[in-house]
Amino acid sequence: DLPDAPAVVGTGLRVPLVTGGSAEYANLDHAASAPCLEAVREAVEQALPRYASVHRGAGLHSQISTDAYERARASVARFVGAGEEDTVVFVRGTTDALNLLARCLPRGTTVVLFAGEHHASLLPWEHEGSRAGEVVRLPLPGGPEEAVEAARAALRAARPGPRLLCVTAASNVTGEVWPIEELALVAREEGARVVVDAAQLVPHRPFDLAACGADYVAFSGHKLYAPFGCGVLAGRADWLRAADPYLAGGGATANVTDAGVVWSDLPDRHEAGSPNVIGAVALAAACEALTEAGWEHLRLREELLLGRLRDGLAGISAVTELALWGTGWPRVAITSFVVEGVAGDLLAAALSAEYGIGVRDGLFCAHPLTRALLPEGHGRAVRASIGLGTTPEHVDRLVHAVAELVAEGPRWTYGREEGRIVP
Ligand code: PMP
Repeated sequence: DLPDAPAVVGTGLRVPLVTGGSAEYANLDHAASAPCLEAVREAVEQALPRYASVHRGAGLHSQISTDAYERARASVARFVGAGEEDTVVFVRGTTDALNLLARCLPRGTTVVLFAGEHHASLLPWEHEGSRAGEVVRLPLPGGPEEAVEAARAALRAARPGPRLLCVTAASNVTGEVWPIEELALVAREEGARVVVDAAQLVPHRPFDLAACGADYVAFSGHKLYAPFGCGVLAGRADWLRAADPYLAGGGATANVTDAGVVWSDLPDRHEAGSPNVIGAVALAAACEALTEAGWEHLRLREELLLGRLRDGLAGISAVTELALWGTGWPRVAITSFVVEGVAGDLLAAALSAEYGIGVRDGLFCAHPLTRALLPEGHGRAVRASIGLGTTPEHVDRLVHAVAELVAEGPRWTYGREEGRIVP
C-alpha cells in the first residue's frame, strides 16, 4: 500500500486524447515544476485579501504582510538549518540565487564545479557581473569517490585566495544524489566554501546547511509545491553583506543623498523592489507542509513509485535509462531514458496526445551532462519525474504506453511546428 501524501491541487483533470475519449491527466513532470500543495493554496488564500507592501507602510495590511513575510523567512531558515551567521534572501528562484551569489563573491574567487551542472549552476560564474576569477570545470566524475578526489585536487591546485565549490545535490537529468557531505568536508579541509544547488533535492529529502557542512544553498519554490516567482539563497552572511546589491532600488537602501547611497544591511540589501510576500508565504507553507508530512514517509512513498516505474521500464528492452554512476546509485524520483526506434520528441508528444501523460523531452538545461549520457544515435531523452501528485496508475500507464509505442508506433500522425512535434 502506498503511504498517504499531502494533497496537491489540480488532480483529476481530464484531457482529451487525439485517439478519442479522454484520460485523467498524469503529470509526470514534477521536476520541471511541482503542482501546488493544498496547504500552500490555503496559506495563499489567507494572505491574499490582506497583502500590502512589506516594510513600508504603517497601515494594518502592511503590518500583517511584513509579519507574514518575516515569518516566512524564519520558517525557511528552519527548513535549511540556517545558523546565526547565515542569512536567508528571497529571490526569484535557483537561477536568480546563483547569479546573485556570483556577484557577491570576493573579487577573484576561484570557482570549481563539474561539467554536468544544470545551466543555472554552470553558467553564472562566467557571466557578466560575476566576481569570480578562474572557473575550473572538472570533467564528469566516474563515481562519487572520484568526484570528491577531483574536487580536492582542484581546490588544492587553485591559486591562493577565496575558493568556492559549486555542486548540485540531485541531478535534474538522472535524479542521482551527489555526495554533498563528503564534498563539503573536502572543501572545508581545503579552506574553501561550498554552494549547493538543491533545486531537485529539497522536494524529496531534508537539507540542513549545518549538518551537511555547506555554506550556501539555493532552491526554487515552484519545484517545492509552491507557485512561481519565489526562491531562496541562504547561507553565510559575510560575503553577501560585503557586496553591493545587484539590483539597485528602493528597499535595499539605508540612505540616499546627492552624494551617494548607503545600502541596507542583509537581507534587505539583496531584496530591492517591493518584496514578493505572497511568493514567500507560499514557499514557507510548502516547507512546513513537507516537514510536517515527515521525510521518511515521503521517501518511502516516492521510492515505491520510482521503483515501480524503473522496474517497468527496465522490462522493455528498447528502453535505456540514463545514469552517470550506474542504475543502482541512489536517486530522487527522476528517470530519463531513450527508446530505440522512437525519437524523444515524438515519444513525448505521443504520450501526451494519446495517453494524457505529461513528461519532458530534450536536454533538460544540462546540455553537457545529457549529451554525455545519451547513447549513440540519440539527440534527446525523455524525463519522467514523480511527485506528490503521482499515483500508481500514472506510473503503470506510462510503462504500458511506452511498451505499446515501441511495439506498434504512434497511432496518430505528427508534424513539426516551430521546431516541436505536434499532433
Ligand atoms: N538547478 C536545477 C538542478 C534545476 O533542476 C533547475 C530547474 N530545472 C534549476 C537549477 C533552475 O531553477 P529555476 O528555473 O527555478 O531558476
